[in-house]
Amino acid sequence: MYQNNKHCPDCKTSLREMKYNQVVVDQCRQCSGLWFDNGEINSFQSRQVSNGNSTPTTPELESHFGESLGDSERQCVSCDNTKLIKHHLLESYHVEIDYCHCCEGVWIDRDELQQVAHSVELQSALEEINKPVNWKTWIFQVLTQLPLEYNVKVKKTPWITYSLIALNVFVFFICSITSNESSAWILSNFATVPVDFFEGKNLWSLLTSMFMHSSIIHLLGNMYFLYIIGDNLEDVLGKKLYLLIYLFCGVCADLVHIGFYTNSTVSVVGASGAVFGLFAMYMLWFKHASLTFMVLVFQKKIPVMVFFIVWIAFNILGAMSELSSVAYTAHLGGFFSGLLIAYILKDQILQKNQLLGMLSAPESKIKRFWHK
Ligand SMILES: [Zn+2]
Ligand SMILES: [Zn+2]
Repeated sequence: MYQNNKHCPDCKTSLREMKYNQVVVDQCRQCSGLWFDNGEINSFQSRQVSNGNSTPTTPELESHFGESLGDSERQCVSCDNTKLIKHHLLESYHVEIDYCHCCEGVWIDRDELQQVAHSVELQSALEEINKPVNWKTWIFQVLTQLPLEYNVKVKKTPWITYSLIALNVFVFFICSITSNESSAWILSNFATVPVDFFEGKNLWSLLTSMFMHSSIIHLLGNMYFLYIIGDNLEDVLGKKLYLLIYLFCGVCADLVHIGFYTNSTVSVVGASGAVFGLFAMYMLWFKHASLTFMVLVFQKKIPVMVFFIVWIAFNILGAMSELSSVAYTAHLGGFFSGLLIAYILKDQILQKNQLLGMLSAPESKIKRFWHK
C-alpha cells in the first residue's frame, strides 16, 4: 500500500492502491471511491465470476455498459482535463458509474462495488428475466391455462423437487389402477379426516395426505407450480431445509383445515397446502420474477407479488363461501405458515444469495407490461 500521484475526483486527496479480489485498484482514503484503470474493471469482475459458478455470456463489462447519461461532474483520474461520462452499469441495471472514453478507466462509489463485481451475473440474470413473451408461450398458456415463469436459472439440479413430483405422480398412478375397494382403503387410512384426527386415529395422514390427489387436474396444477417455483426455492434454501419447510407447510395446512372443520368427516388430500407455502416464500424472496397472465387474448408478464396476492384473495373468498369441495382453509394455512418462514429467513436468504438482493433493488429494471 503506497501513495501514488492519482487524486480522488471528489475529495482531491491522493489515492492509495488496494487489492480487491486480487485486482489492484486505487481507492480514496476519504470517501472510499474506487478507480479502475483501463482493463482492471474487466479482470475484477471475471475473477468474481470464476469464484461463483456462473457462466458469463460476455466477459467484457465495458461492451455492455448501459445508456450514456452525459458528462459527469468528475474529471478523469488519469487523463488531464478530461471529463468522465456517466453511464448506467447495465442496460437493465441503473447504477451510475463514471467512465473515461479516453483511457477507459472507471470511477465507482464504494457502495457500488458489489453491483459492479457481480455485473456479469446480473447481466445474464436480467437477460433471462426480461425475455419477452412469444407465440410459443402464448400457445402454451392458451392450451394449459397455466402461467409461465420468468426468473433466474438455478445453479444446482433440484433433485428434491423432482423426487416430490415423482412421488406424487406415482401415488396417483397407484391409486388410479387399484380397485375401488383398495382406493377406499387407501383414502380412509392415509387422507386427513378432522374427526379421525381428534380421536387420535391415523395421525400419519398429516404427512401422507399431501402426496395424494383426488383428480388429474388437481395433481397437474399442483405439480406444475411445484416444478416452476420449487427449483428456485430449493436452490436458495438447500435441499434439507427446503424439504423440511415443504413438509412443515403441508402439515400446517392440514392442521388449519382441521381447526376450522373440527366435526368434518370429509377427507382432504393434496400437495396444495405445501405448494401454497412455497408461493409465500417465492413472492417475498423473488420479487424480480414474473408470471404470465392472460387478459383476454393478451399474455402479460406480471410481478409474482401481484399474481399471488390475487390468488390468495380468491382463496379467501372461496373459504368464506364454503360452497366448493376445495379446501381453501388448508391453502391459506399453508400460505401463511410459508409467509411466516419467509419473513424469518428473509435477511439470511438475501445475504447468502446476494444476486437476489441486487435484483430486487430499485436499480434493477424488470421489463413486464410493454411486451405483447
Ligand atoms: Zn474521495
Ligand atoms: Zn481517462
